[in-house]
Amino acid sequence: MNKPITCIICPKGCQITVNAETSPWITEGNACARGAAYAIQETADPRRTLTATVAILGAAIPRCPVVTSAPIPKGELLSTMDKLNHLTIHAPVNAGDVLVENFAGEGIHLVATRTLENTHAA
Ligand code: SF4
Repeated sequence: MNKPITCIICPKGCQITVNAETSPWITEGNACARGAAYAIQETADPRRTLTATVAILGAAIPRCPVVTSAPIPKGELLSTMDKLNHLTIHAPVNAGDVLVENFAGEGIHLVATRTLENTHAA
């Protein structure tokens, strides 16, 4: 039995344990099936959506807010942040633009979450 996972799907915050020694895995402490699915996902392949900023040239501000198009493996968050820190984009960008295709692998793109005009255009 793993240590309890706090379910974040709803405010109730059930403490869920996953028995990974059975087949299929059994959960305890979840008040609903959504919590069981969350705890099993969190045990088997924990993922997080990365929200951050990236350097941008030509805009009124120096960094553009970005997000991954899907959650990435939790163990890859730091290396993905490192990739972001070596990236510079150029204005203009529109919220929703794919800035880098397949940025995190698995077809997960880097997406702008803010529109930034080119304020340096002649
Ligand atoms: S298990 Fe269900 S009821 Fe409990 S916190 Fe998760 S979503 Fe909410």
